[in-house]
Amino acid sequence: MESKIWLSSPHMGGHEMQYIQEAFDQNWVAPLGKNVDEFEIAIETFLGESNRVAALSSGTAALHLALVQLGVGYGDEVVCQSFTFSASANPIKYLGATPVFVDSDPDNWNMSPDYLEAALVDRIAKGKKPKAVIVVHLYGMPARMDEILSICEKYNIPLVEDSAEALGSTYKGRKCGTFGEFAVLSFNGNKIITTSGGGALVCKTEEEKVKTIFLSTQARDPAPYYQHSEVGYNYRLSNICAGIGRGQMQILPERILQRRANHDFYENLFRDTEAVTVFTEANEDYYSNHWLSSITIDGSLTSKTNYDMMAAFAAQNIETRPLWKPMHLQPVFKDCPYYGETVAEDLFNRGLCLPSGSNLTNDDKKRINDVISNYQF
Ligand SMILES: *Cc1c(COP(=O)(O)O)cnc(C)c1O
Repeated sequence: MESKIWLSSPHMGGHEMQYIQEAFDQNWVAPLGKNVDEFEIAIETFLGESNRVAALSSGTAALHLALVQLGVGYGDEVVCQSFTFSASANPIKYLGATPVFVDSDPDNWNMSPDYLEAALVDRIAKGKKPKAVIVVHLYGMPARMDEILSICEKYNIPLVEDSAEALGSTYKGRKCGTFGEFAVLSFNGNKIITTSGGGALVCKTEEEKVKTIFLSTQARDPAPYYQHSEVGYNYRLSNICAGIGRGQMQILPERILQRRANHDFYENLFRDTEAVTVFTEANEDYYSNHWLSSITIDGSLTSKTNYDMMAAFAAQNIETRPLWKPMHLQPVFKDCPYYGETVAEDLFNRGLCLPSGSNLTNDDKKRINDVISNYQF
C-alpha cells in the first residue's frame, strides 16, 4: 500500500524546534512566557488595525470566552450558522443558552443574510432577542460580511466571527477575524497553521484582551492570596505550543499560497467534468485561504455519489471527507430552532473535501489525478 495522503496534516516551517528549545533552556515550560507573548504579537501584526490577540488552549475555548464576555447566560439564545463544525455551537450550550441555527447561502456556503434576518425578526417577536450572532468562514471562504454586519447593526446584536478555518482569508481586502466584536482562531493540528492544539481570541481593545487573559487563567483577583470574584477558566496556551506557533506564523503567507495552489490544481483536474463543481470565490470581493478544497457533485449528471468518490480515493489510501453535517440535523441539537430550507443539507448530501495540505507533493497530486482519471462518472 502506498503511503497515506491526509486531508490536511501539520506542515512545519523549520524554526519551531528552536523556540521550543528556548523555552526548555529557560525553563518556561508553563502556560506563559516569551513564546506566548511573541506568538500574540505575530498574530496582531498579521491581522493589523488595532486588533488585540489572546492566545488560548483551543478555538473552542476562545469562542467560550467570547460568549462569556458578551454576557451570554442560562436561558439566552445565540444565533449560529448551521453549516459548520460542532465547535461553533457547543460553547453556547456550555453556558446553558440555546443555539438558533440559520441556513447557508448556496454560492457562498456561509450564513444566509436573509435567513439571519428572518431568524432575528422572529426571535425578537417571540420576546427572545438573541445575545449574539456567530458567523463562520467555512473552509476559508469569507461570509457575506457587509450584509451580515449591517443586519447585526440594525438589530444591535454583537457579531462573533468563527475564523478558525479562515486565517489569511480576506473580504473586500480586509482580513477575516477583524470584522466581529470578537473573532476566534484555531491552531488545531489540521488547520492552515498549527500549534498542535491551540487557539486565540481576537479582541477589539486592550481591555478585552486583558479580560480574556484574566478569565483564561482562573480569574484571580489582585490580592496576595487566592481570591476570586468571578468564575475562571484554565484556557491559556502553553508556552511550548506557542513556540510552534511562532515558527508557523513566519511561514503563514507561504501556506496560504500553497493551499490556494491546491485549489487551482482541483479546478484544473475537474475542468472538463460537468458533474463536479469546485467551491470557489463568487467574485473578487472574496479571497479564500482555501483551507480545504471542496467539491459538490451534481446528481442529475451522474449516478455516483460523494461516498462513491470517497471510496475510490480510500482504495488508494487517500483521505477525503464529507462536508460538515449541519448542526440542525445533529441529534445533540435536534430541539434547537432552525431558520432556513435545505441549502446546507443539500451541500452535505453531495459534497466532499479533498486532500488540501500545504505539504501535498507532486507525487501526491499525481496519485489524486490518477484516481479521477480512472473514475467512471
Ligand atoms: C477547528 C474549528 C473550531 C474549533 O477549534 P479548536 O481549536 O479545534 O477548538 C471551531 N470552529 C470551526 C469552524 C473549526 O473548524
